Order: sequence, then C-alpha cells, then structure tokens
Amino acid sequence: MVSRLCYGSLTMGPLQRNLTPEEGASLIRYGYERGINFLDAAELYETYPHIREALKYIERDKYVISSKCYAYSEKTAKESFEKALTEMNTDYVDIFMLHEQTSELTIKGHYEAIEYFLKKKQEGKIKAFGISTHYIDAVRGALKYPEIEVIHPITNMNGLGIQDGSMDEMLMALNQFKARGGGIYGMKPLGGGNLLSSVDDCFDFVLNLKELDAIAFGMQSFDEIDYNVLRVSGEAIPSELTQRVGGHSKSLQIADWCISCGACVKKCDHKALSMVDGKVSINRSKCVLCGYCASVCPEFCIKVY
Ligand code: SF4
Ligand code: SF4
Repeated sequence: MVSRLCYGSLTMGPLQRNLTPEEGASLIRYGYERGINFLDAAELYETYPHIREALKYIERDKYVISSKCYAYSEKTAKESFEKALTEMNTDYVDIFMLHEQTSELTIKGHYEAIEYFLKKKQEGKIKAFGISTHYIDAVRGALKYPEIEVIHPITNMNGLGIQDGSMDEMLMALNQFKARGGGIYGMKPLGGGNLLSSVDDCFDFVLNLKELDAIAFGMQSFDEIDYNVLRVSGEAIPSELTQRVGGHSKSLQIADWCISCGACVKKCDHKALSMVDGKVSINRSKCVLCGYCASVCPEFCIKVY
C-alpha cells in the first residue's frame, strides 16, 4: 500500500539541487512524518546515500522504495541491484525497474536482466518488477509481459515529454495495463517544472486520473512537501505557503566551460538539445528539466536549478 503522493528523489540529487545526504534525508524523513510512505529513486539519480541516511529514522517495513537501472545483462543487473542494496543499506527493494524503456523491443533486448530481477523476486529481495518510460509503445509492450507489474510513465495534462503520441493515447494504454491489475505511478506531473504557471490544473489532472495509484513529485524543500501533502489530500493551503512555493522556477543551465563533445545531445530523449555552430543549443519548449543530460557531461557543466 503506497501513499498517493510519491517522493521523487531525482530533484534533490547531484543532477539538480545537489543537496547533501543529510539535507536530503531530513526532507525524506519529514515527508514520511507527513504521510508519504513511497519514494522513487534510480541508480542514475545518485540519491542512494540520501535514502540510506533517511532509512535510519524510518520503519523500513512501512516504507516502499522503487528504484531503477539501465541493466541489460545478468552481470549488469547484478551490479545495479547489489549497488542499490549496499548504498541504501537495505535487504530488499520493494519495486525494481528497468529505466527508460522505449518499446516491446527494448524490453525483449533487456530480458537477461529481467530474468535476474525475477530470480531476486523469488528470493524475496524484490517485491515487484516494473519499467519506467516516456513512450506509449513501451506501455503497450508491457501488456505482453505479465512479469511487468508496475509502470512509471510520464503523466501530465499536456503530455509534455511523451515521445510517441498524446496524453490521451498514453491513458488508453495505461488503462489496459490497469485493467490487467498492474500498478501505475506517474512522473513529471508538472512537466519537470515547465507547467508551473498552471500548477492547480496540473494537480487536478493527475489527481483525477483513475489509472494512477500514485504520482511522483520531486520536492526540494519542507515548504514543497507541505504544499504537496495538503494539495493531494484536498486540504486548504495557506496563502503564505503558496507564495513561498510559487517563487521558484527552474531552468537548464549550461556553463561556459562546455567543450562541445555532444554527449548531452545524444542522451536527451526529448530532442531538446542540438549542436548549432559547434555549440549546444537548448530548445526550452521540449526540455522537461529531467537533468538526465547532466549525468553524461564529462565536464559537469549542466545543471537544472
Ligand atoms: S535537455 Fe537535459 S534536462 Fe532537458 S529534457 Fe533533455 S535530458 Fe532532460
Ligand atoms: S556533455 Fe557537457 S561538455 Fe559535452 S556538449 Fe554537453 S554540456 Fe558540453
């Protein structure tokens, strides 16, 4: 059983706000005290140390952790899974997923890793297996694999970030997955921060979706936790809190010392980056502020803040 509000840990990690493990842990712990018992992580996010610190103060059996990796073989799956256990100092991961699946073909191509995760499930070290995706095709593909029990798809009112169709088409696929008994928790309800001018509509949209069991929001401050907890539970939000939370907008920044290697352009699934006259150019209307491009930058010059 998970809380409707899932704590998205990406935004506290080095790809975005870069909080220390202690700072991140105090936020996760505060969220837990406010009723959030579900957390989304990933090997890519580098937030395992934050979670490890938080777990010192959280009853493990009352907390649901979901994490994901890019493993494609038994060896890479074992490395990723053991890293998750060691770095979070836990004996099991509640939901373990393959990150950024794009279609039935990528699911098939990663099947050796999936077999490893299913073995861990039999041993009780994983409770449910799943995929995360920005693609409707991957949700359709998952329908053919009963072993995929959880999906973590992009879900926001404009379908921002969905790579191969509209939000309506995504919902049709999710509906079929739900009918089969799968669990679904959405990501990027605010389009990674791009829909901040329509926060209320964004909340209304995701909270009214019958397909979603939960929705992950990245939260970087105690105020954001308070705001989201109140909003999801339908309680009144003090106007001072709304003002404090509304004051922050985010954008992708590329520092001057970029060496134009192009790695970020290849990494961006959303086609928001391109090389123009030997320099990286950002198409901000396509950027969902996920920060994934920062994970491949050899010069550490990309930040979302
Ligand atoms: S440019 Fe970077 S932050 Fe923006 S969508 Fe692409 S990977 Fe994500
Ligand atoms: S990965 Fe970093 S160094 Fe390479 S082009 Fe992108 S911003 Fe520049």
